[in-house]
Amino acid sequence: MADKNLSINTLCVQGGYTPGNGEPRQIPIVQSTTFKYDSSDEMGKLFDLEANGYFYSRLQNPTCDTVAAKIAELEGGTAAMLTSSGQAANFLALFNICNAGDHIVASSSIYGGTFNLISVTMAKMGITATFVSPDCSEEELNAAFRDNTRAVFGETIANPALTVLDIEKFAAVAHAHGVPLIVDNTFATPVNCRPFEWGADIVTHSTTKYMDGHGGCVGGAIVDSGKFDWMAHADKFPGLCTPDESYHGITYAERFGKEGAFITKATAQLMRDFGCGQSPISAYMLNLGLESLHVRMARHCENGQAVAEFLANHPKIAYVNYCGLPGDKYHELAKKYLPKGSCGVVSFGVKGGRDAAKAFMGHLKIAAIETHVADARTCCLHPASSTHRQMNDAQLLAAGVEPDLVRMSCGLEDKDDLIRDIAQALDQI
Ligand SMILES: *Cc1c(COP(=O)(O)O)cnc(C)c1O
Repeated sequence: MADKNLSINTLCVQGGYTPGNGEPRQIPIVQSTTFKYDSSDEMGKLFDLEANGYFYSRLQNPTCDTVAAKIAELEGGTAAMLTSSGQAANFLALFNICNAGDHIVASSSIYGGTFNLISVTMAKMGITATFVSPDCSEEELNAAFRDNTRAVFGETIANPALTVLDIEKFAAVAHAHGVPLIVDNTFATPVNCRPFEWGADIVTHSTTKYMDGHGGCVGGAIVDSGKFDWMAHADKFPGLCTPDESYHGITYAERFGKEGAFITKATAQLMRDFGCGQSPISAYMLNLGLESLHVRMARHCENGQAVAEFLANHPKIAYVNYCGLPGDKYHELAKKYLPKGSCGVVSFGVKGGRDAAKAFMGHLKIAAIETHVADARTCCLHPASSTHRQMNDAQLLAAGVEPDLVRMSCGLEDKDDLIRDIAQALDQI
């Protein structure tokens, strides 16, 4: 499916895999740890990255590669890989170009797990970070850079704050400093935004969310746009631009070019050493989700918009965050970057604070209380008493999580049923 004219709708269904005569119509599950070769010399060529092929599923597996190829086509990238989780995708994407002593500029409005990964765990590895508001000016963004900055990181639509990243602005500043912009595109999915079209260089995903879409498998993906010129900034990226002694002196950016160096290095080095790939069966199930991603995203957005509009007009609701609402702080950015819609996640405050929010949620019948989002089934979460439970009210406000905040992920049910459920729960408080 390398046809550039195909709509994303067609790529969701058929991308990544074109069976030959008599071959399976659905992607084959290659449930094998290892692969057989006729001679040691032939296998040796694989280890030297001189020939393409598989030798051990810790590094690469045909089913995973087929699904990764579909995600690369959906994002308009040149190469992709699947990982065991979204956390693994973001870690590998950053660690592929950051060494001890390096520095990252990141949006402060990102998924809590990624914030912890960057601010705590990567700091233990000697990689430091400066966090900036996604709404910062170009001057403020410039001021966050240091000589050792190696990457800029943000989320298209942040989980759970629902801020929208000005991708074009962040990309321009990153490029002016000679480093790539990495964008976590989990909530928008390539159906609603393709960050490469706005200058991003690497895209990551928690495929656990809309891509899988059914709450079935935890997984992640990394996609390379193939546009960042590593060799033009060789002093900053020695891992890509100087020989890798653990791979017989290969220089990834020379051998595999802009299009392939990033993913090849992440596979050959990081998957080899960390082994956080996806299982073939999970990749197969992820692909079932991808086949309907374009159909589902439209419904998630329709339901999110309807619920947000209903809440915005309800007297018991203090505020609503949803970039599809004309009054929302991110509405103008959403018109530019998310013209087809954003996602099904809406957050809002219930008048009466923490206790009112919890009471409201307890009365919901369709929406279940879960630590999850972007699923076919509507679910909701009260961050102040769950994911952010250890924080007091002052700390919650500093983290941008109001004590009365409810995050609701609108699923694929009928929107009138969802609204009736919310209305009866609000009536009871
Ligand atoms: C959930 C999520 C992650 C982490 O993904 P897992 O698959 O849970 O590891 C990363 N980024 C965003 C935006 C997410 O929503």
